[in-house]
Amino acid sequence: MPATASRLSVFTESVIRGTTRLANQHGAINLAQGFPDFDPPEELLAALEQATRGPHHQYAVTWGAPRFREALARKIQRFTGLPIHPDAHLVVTCGSTEAMMVAMMTACNPGDKVIIFSPFYENYAADAILSGAVPIYVPLRPPGFGYDPAELGRAFAQKPKAIVICNPSNPTGKVFTRNELLEILRLAEQHDAFVITDEPYEHIVFAPHEHVYFAALPGAFERTITCNSLSKTYSITGWRLGYVQAAPQVIAQARKVHDFLTVGAAAPLQEAAVAGLELPDSYYDGLRDLYTAKRDLFLGLLRQTGLSFTEPQGAYYVMLDISPLGFATDTEASEWLIREIGVAGVAGSSFFREPVNHLIRFHFAKNADTLLAAGERLLRLRQGR
Ligand code: GLN
Repeated sequence: MPATASRLSVFTESVIRGTTRLANQHGAINLAQGFPDFDPPEELLAALEQATRGPHHQYAVTWGAPRFREALARKIQRFTGLPIHPDAHLVVTCGSTEAMMVAMMTACNPGDKVIIFSPFYENYAADAILSGAVPIYVPLRPPGFGYDPAELGRAFAQKPKAIVICNPSNPTGKVFTRNELLEILRLAEQHDAFVITDEPYEHIVFAPHEHVYFAALPGAFERTITCNSLSKTYSITGWRLGYVQAAPQVIAQARKVHDFLTVGAAAPLQEAAVAGLELPDSYYDGLRDLYTAKRDLFLGLLRQTGLSFTEPQGAYYVMLDISPLGFATDTEASEWLIREIGVAGVAGSSFFREPVNHLIRFHFAKNADTLLAAGERLLRLRQGR
């Protein structure tokens, strides 16, 4: 049998998706892969029913159904203040996952370097490798998960083509401040690099923290490739709707990558999702309040285990420090949690470049009943193993 491509031996299968499979096998409460166990807003469900009876069953326009792109442009303008044009600035993709791959392939030549903060969402390294780029990792250190400006400066001195920023950050829960982002922008300008941002948690930010849109910083628009998704904002991770937003010259190239990768996102779902994009501001306030309550509930439950954990400023992930349990590896700990405790979390090492082995990432995008049931099971950790 011929050998498969050697680039595929450089990264593993997704640990997040793998943990979900194991959780399902054992009937564990799945706090590993981040997705809600509650329904999307009623408006979206009604629009989806309607869309099934409409003329939306064939390919939509490759870069996104016009009605969807128009609603999307209006929604982005409402929150960022940027004059986004549906034809010039957007490509609709199958989730932010495809958007990131498109962004990386649009920005980078084989051999180009890309700065990735560590810990990072596991897709970024795979995206870089698949597009032939070489990651340079810059650590974000606890407790605040800020970067060291000197370290970042040294990374930029290696002439990267792009930097990836996940804001709010998965898995750390860090929300980058305006000053941090301005500093990154200055470095990107100085070294003429693209800034690829991944912002699916833009509306899940806990007071007093606020989301700053990188593309809206003064002078940033031309070099920013924003990747985003409707998955988390409207609780529709299975709909696979995302987008790339960038300057027209970049979008013209990104459209080609997207077209040949997937042709397009599902047409009836684009049609139905317009109802989400048209929801009033109060929806987003409600979403923030909902997730603030979930965070408070889940952190309260984790506190009872006596173990320490990260305090998220945004997104819906917590990393629990399991060192006192004395496992040799976090993978072993994650499997034990699934089998013996009945709660699934992701081995933290899958997010880190550094040899980190003592963290398990849980998410709290679940109904209160699910979180309470998980909390009750996790209480057993108070007694050790
Ligand atoms: N972003 C979510 C997570 O980190 C889900 C990712 C996925 O499986 N596509 O768990």
